[in-house]
Amino acid sequence: MAPKRKATIIALANQKGGVAKTTSVASLGAAFAEQGRRVLLVDLDPQACLTFSLGVDPDTVEASVNDVLVGGAELRDVVVSCDEGVDLVPSTIDLAGAEAVLLSRPAREYTLQGALDGVRRDYDIVLLDCAPSLGVLTLNALTAAHALVIPMPCEMLSHRGVGQLLDTVRDVKRILNKKLRVLGILPTLYDGRSLHAREVLEDVGDRYDLPVLSPPIPKTVRFAEAPAVGRSILSTARRSKGAAAYREVAATLLAGL
Ligand code: ADP
Ligand code: MG
Repeated sequence: MAPKRKATIIALANQKGGVAKTTSVASLGAAFAEQGRRVLLVDLDPQACLTFSLGVDPDTVEASVNDVLVGGAELRDVVVSCDEGVDLVPSTIDLAGAEAVLLSRPAREYTLQGALDGVRRDYDIVLLDCAPSLGVLTLNALTAAHALVIPMPCEMLSHRGVGQLLDTVRDVKRILNKKLRVLGILPTLYDGRSLHAREVLEDVGDRYDLPVLSPPIPKTVRFAEAPAVGRSILSTARRSKGAAAYREVAATLLAGL
């Protein structure tokens, strides 16, 4: 039998909160699984929103990403299987202490990469849901990743910080991870009726000299409902425009990997 290919690791990062990182990880993960891929999602945010939104209660999780990064647990031992055909490395509030612990360790930025190495043959795609910061955990994600997607709402003020993120990416590529590729900006929370939103969408690719993934993800209340039932919009609103948009973006990403 031919050896299985190793997973491609994609980080979704933006140090702003509320830009739809977590929603995009859950939705793209479900879309990749629908398209027959073996998917692992990693929650790197102490707020554990991804964990919660996949139907796993962070308060009852026995072992989490914190045990892997700080305690040296095997990553495969903390994986939980979720509905919608994706596996999850859950987070809990314990992860809030990880930054401080890792800071005093040598090669701290490589901790996640090392932990993921052991499972890369078990998956086709690994998606990393980053916390809203550019701290050690996000540096771990950018170091472990082959590719980066930057979710960004189509609003003026959401630009703030993207330059700083790209500076960090440049440093990461120079020092920690030469192979990191920025796949592009994923426009989120898009209201096509708003002239302002259309103008931001037009301009953002040129402004940062980056590809803009298509189609933009429309703003719809369906997204607010999904996490409460522990499933992504791909199964709570299968035929919605939002689900269709994520499926299309997932297919585009797969084609480019
Ligand atoms: P982040 O992980 O970047 O902090 P989230 O994915 O948690 O962002 O999304 C922030 C909020 O926006 C959540 O309440 C989520 O339900 C909502 N949201 C995300 N995408 C959409 C969308 N396309 N339409 C409407 N609401 C959305
Ligand atoms: Mg989040």
